[in-house]
Amino acid sequence: MIGKNKITKTHDEAIKRTRNIAAPLNAVRAGYNPPCVSIGHCVDCTSLERVCFTLAITEGQYVKDRLFLLIANEEEGF
Ligand code: SF4
Repeated sequence: MIGKNKITKTHDEAIKRTRNIAAPLNAVRAGYNPPCVSIGHCVDCTSLERVCFTLAITEGQYVKDRLFLLIANEEEGF
């Protein structure tokens, strides 16, 4: 389930949003301090406190009804 604030028009915008909005907020929440926390945007860092080493993209599913995406008509999370 996601909030409508996580919807973007393009794949590139989604990655940009992840790195410039979600990553720094999640870093603060988890107690990490990569550069985006203080700078306010991603600098593609190599910090040991980097919080976005893994990017997972699901583009589909072979098994019918195995995955559902629920979109809340409100802002949820980062
Ligand atoms: S690469 Fe570094 S600066 Fe960019 S979002 Fe990830 S943790 Fe933040």
